Amino acid sequence: MAKQVVTVCPYCGAGCLMTLTVEAGKIKKVSPFGKGDRFLCAKGKKIMDFVYSPLRLDAPLVRQGDTFKRVSWGEALDIVASRLSEIKDKYGPDSIGFMGSGCFTNEELYIYQKFVRAVMGTNNIDSCARICHIPSLKALMKSIGSATMSNTMDEISNTEVIFIAGYNPEVCHPRLYHRQIKAAKKKGSKIIVMDPRITSVAEMADVFLQLKPGTEVPILNSMANIIIQEDLVDELFIQRRTEGYDELKRQVEKYSPEYAAKISDVPAMSIIAGARLYAASRNSVILWGMGMTQHICGVDNVSALINLALLTGNIGRPNTGLSPVRGQNNVQGASFIGALPDVFPGYKQVTDPAAQEWFKSLWGVASLPEEPGRTSTVFLPGVLEGKTKALYISGENPAVSQANLNLIRKALAEVEFLVVQEVFMTETAQFADVILPACTFAEKGGTYIRLDRAVQLLNPAVSPAGESLPDWKIIQMLASKMGYGNLFPYHSEFDIHEELRKAVPDLAGITYERLQDGNAIHMPCPDPSHPGVLVRYTDVFPRPGGRALFVPVDFTPPAESPDEEYPFTLTTGRDARHFNTSTIACPRERAGRAYLEIHPQDAEALGLSDGDAIEAVSRRGKVVLEAKITERVRPGVTFAPLRRCCESSINLLTGNALDPVAKTPEYKVSAIKLNQVKQK
Ligand code: SF4
Repeated sequence: MAKQVVTVCPYCGAGCLMTLTVEAGKIKKVSPFGKGDRFLCAKGKKIMDFVYSPLRLDAPLVRQGDTFKRVSWGEALDIVASRLSEIKDKYGPDSIGFMGSGCFTNEELYIYQKFVRAVMGTNNIDSCARICHIPSLKALMKSIGSATMSNTMDEISNTEVIFIAGYNPEVCHPRLYHRQIKAAKKKGSKIIVMDPRITSVAEMADVFLQLKPGTEVPILNSMANIIIQEDLVDELFIQRRTEGYDELKRQVEKYSPEYAAKISDVPAMSIIAGARLYAASRNSVILWGMGMTQHICGVDNVSALINLALLTGNIGRPNTGLSPVRGQNNVQGASFIGALPDVFPGYKQVTDPAAQEWFKSLWGVASLPEEPGRTSTVFLPGVLEGKTKALYISGENPAVSQANLNLIRKALAEVEFLVVQEVFMTETAQFADVILPACTFAEKGGTYIRLDRAVQLLNPAVSPAGESLPDWKIIQMLASKMGYGNLFPYHSEFDIHEELRKAVPDLAGITYERLQDGNAIHMPCPDPSHPGVLVRYTDVFPRPGGRALFVPVDFTPPAESPDEEYPFTLTTGRDARHFNTSTIACPRERAGRAYLEIHPQDAEALGLSDGDAIEAVSRRGKVVLEAKITERVRPGVTFAPLRRCCESSINLLTGNALDPVAKTPEYKVSAIKLNQVKQK
């Protein structure tokens, strides 16, 4: 007899619900679930290809020369436990780096960071959040006091003006694009888009700011200046709910539209039109993505956006707000639950003595590391400086996703001991000493946090394939091998969730029972009778004094600009049918060739035709791509998706210059040259 299991799509942060029809222990059908708002995009509909991929890892593997040998779980974990202990004793706990995943459930993230801190004694834990929205977290924490989205996804359909900055919703969150943004446009909402590339949402924009990559701050500061000069500010809001206005006013004075136009190549009139449109409406929302954050000035870019919302009072009310649109299914969980080097679960600082005491007492341990750990963008290259001796990488694929891959791959090859916990044999797993097979979302329970703070429940539909196991179970078994089984006394995801509710007051009211039948609860939710919070900051901001802070920022040019030798700018992003580095994409979709978008004018100068093979070269590496001639990019600018295409991974070209605060690399601006590949 068939059973129907309601669970959550494992791809993007839009968190679409799905029903899995299971017969004889196998998923037979995937359908959208929901009352009236049923939606699954091409990725969600394809999850069976992912769960039943022939490429799945189905047993623990241990390196034997250039190949791997299948071993038992006991054997694999013995090796991992003894090597990690040896390295910790010999070089100290901070010689090991741990990467968690935005694909983990909250329960898995919780147990993982607890293992790293309480057993391994280091804060060297990081996740994919580092290379996406940590700049948003840093800027929002400083200005607002909390780093999550202020309002809900559904409210976007009811807003008057949507400002979309460095974000391509059609490919990143198809649900949000089709169900919220397009619906809003149909109802008459106005759209402002700031992007170096003509995306589908740019085509429907009322104001399109097609900027030179890396020139966001001059445009946003100029918009702030126009809003102030034209008296479009919300004076009462500024007076009652903010601080630092005079400093901001002074800082943006020099950013006239003409000055910003000169730097960004966006016409001054468009900047003025964007500022007026955003400020004149009663309900404006800002959505942003990695086009804002993946810069050496990513934190400043986000601060400049936040300043606009504070100037116009577009926060703390329904249908307005600040929306850092988190990409991966549970990357919001990855940062909120503490898979970061500087925070415990609930964004409590690891340096805060009260937080340290709280977690020591909850976990029953005498000590916890008190200094922030290193970020993945520091501890990975740290192998080559002799500072990192072992890596434990779970659900991440840094051999494709990190910037400056030749350097990162050298580090993965040279590290003394590498454990990879994964669903597939990824490029990173190829470097491993031990590979531990993890199962997929359909084979486990737990919770994810949607991009808009809504917590949703996964239900296991089928048994794990082969000998694969849920990530939490693997960590629990490893802790046991290392003699710390007493700290991980869980029988199921439910037990971990109950501890998580105690650890994080904002989740205290969210029980599995309340999440049944596809129910979603927006945190914070402090007790089981609380409905959750849809609109945040209606009265106060969670900062000392309760006021939000204007943070004035100045323009920092990209780390690398085009020059005579490398005359083109490369910018990167997602494409529709791929998912990040394709670690959980269906194999059929992995095969597509990597391409480079190039403007017709540049193609003509280089003598290129559509589909020609072209070699793109930066100061760090080179790849061969297929030329895609299109007016979507500006002359002088090229675009490539960050999909995995083995030797053509675009991050061979990108640079690892980091934002000084967030330590996020500048993926969005690299200088390259292009050579036509002669056909044989
Ligand atoms: Fe999955 Fe996102 Fe597509 Fe929804 S929009 S089905 S969550 S990939």
